[in-house]
Amino acid sequence: MDQLAPKHRLPDQPKEFGYFVDGLWKSREDRFERASPGHGVAVSRTVRCTLDDLNDAVSAARRAFENGFWADISGAERAGVLLRTAEIIKRRREEVAYWEVLENGKPISQALGEIEHCIACFETGAGAARALHGDSFNNLGKDLFGMVLREPIGVVGLITPWNFPFLILCERVPFILASGCTLVVKPSEVTSVTTLLLAEILEEAGLPRGAYNVVTGSGRTIGQAMTEHHDIDMISFTGSTAVGRACVHAAADSNFKKLGLELGGKNPIIVFADADLDSAADAAAFGISFNTGQCCVSSSRLIVEVKVANEFEKLLAAKMQKIVVGDPLDPTTQVGAITTEAQNKTILDYIEKGKSAGAKVLVGGAKFDHEGGQYIQPTLFTGVTRDMAIATDEIFGPVLSSFTFETADEAVQIANDTVYGLAASLWTSDVSKALSVTRRVRAGRFWVNTIMAGGPEMPLGGFKQSGWGREAGVYGVEEYTQIKSVHVDLAKRQPWIS
Ligand code: NAP
Repeated sequence: MDQLAPKHRLPDQPKEFGYFVDGLWKSREDRFERASPGHGVAVSRTVRCTLDDLNDAVSAARRAFENGFWADISGAERAGVLLRTAEIIKRRREEVAYWEVLENGKPISQALGEIEHCIACFETGAGAARALHGDSFNNLGKDLFGMVLREPIGVVGLITPWNFPFLILCERVPFILASGCTLVVKPSEVTSVTTLLLAEILEEAGLPRGAYNVVTGSGRTIGQAMTEHHDIDMISFTGSTAVGRACVHAAADSNFKKLGLELGGKNPIIVFADADLDSAADAAAFGISFNTGQCCVSSSRLIVEVKVANEFEKLLAAKMQKIVVGDPLDPTTQVGAITTEAQNKTILDYIEKGKSAGAKVLVGGAKFDHEGGQYIQPTLFTGVTRDMAIATDEIFGPVLSSFTFETADEAVQIANDTVYGLAASLWTSDVSKALSVTRRVRAGRFWVNTIMAGGPEMPLGGFKQSGWGREAGVYGVEEYTQIKSVHVDLAKRQPWIS
């Protein structure tokens, strides 16, 4: 720690944060204290909000929606606020990245990279605010003209997870705001700070009061109450498939609010023998280790053509051994800490399950303690069979299971052998094979000869039990609108009663 710049040291004492409703910072005695997963040192104290606080936040968002100061202004004016937000994030990027590291445990270099993407999300949201439009029908006959209006859906409840607290927030907020909606956000209790920082940033950028509210607290209290709330028009939920299912029940039992669900994944990376194997191995190492594998689009199932499988697994193991795991505040670290104690235990339990089921650990397979933090070596299992827990379950950790195939049909079949359908990566030098396999694997995001590439212009979302709807870009904005069909009679209407 001694060689770190002062701003990258741990805070002397945990910093206190309020919650943000109707443009005002509020506080309560009841607080949640968060320790940095990389160091075991208390860093933040956020409010445990009550259900009354949530109701206040929803009322504020409703008033801000109805008064039209946001929903009724032009797309150009909304774009102005979003562009100013991007500029302020640029100015505060070090501070935001620092809090991401302290609460999540991700490496500082990665956190800074993610913030570049967040800035791009606000810039893209600004463009989308100006581009949003409806449609018209000029083919309804001489006397009838049809217009399709896109209107903001209203008050959105946004529930985000702890793995990418700021990035997932920024992949949604600009597009929600671009549509003209107002929102109430509930971040994961363990990573709330950067969602609160965004409130300061949006306020400075000129967002009208009440349009962005943050209520902190646990998922079981505040999160669940949001999904059951009768005055929230839509929930955008990102998290586990189990809680996503609970959101569906809660929406059905309350006001039939619309749901956007971004859920889990067990994503394949398919490597054909004709691929650039060195590059594919580098991508596979990155795909399972990025964000310590606590990533919905982690490529956690390697599906490699049998004739190069041994060579490829050795190449991959050698690369994984070189990954620098450790203190997330160290700028040279590539893989940081596991974010929560519960997740640390879950990952270690899966590693044990893999070993006892007979899979072979080629690299990693163990935890290590470092400066009071919780860390796990990126792990590669070979000899995995499709019935093992490490083959079927989303582990949400740096644990990669390797399978082999002989034909493209078999590769597709293994890739689709999951309840999930979030993302996939494919490596081959044959374009026809690449396109043919891409069309047959059921996943919402696909990378050919690359991995986790993309920009906020491209939609995000899953097939099967990985979710409903799409976030980001023009597709993302449209999710937060509803369509009104308007019929205009251009002549005198024929009377019904003569
Ligand atoms: P989680 O337990 O489902 O929690 C996600 C969010 O929901 C948190 O804010 C949590 O609050 C809240 N929550 C918990 N119980 C709730 C309930 N009954 N009703 C409403 N909200 C509730 O998921 P996680 O463990 O944080 O995140 C990991 C999961 O997210 C993985 O499955 C991963 O694949 C998925 N994920 C998906 C995407 C995607 O884009 N598809 C992206 C990232 C993550 P608290 O944390 O405060 O309890």
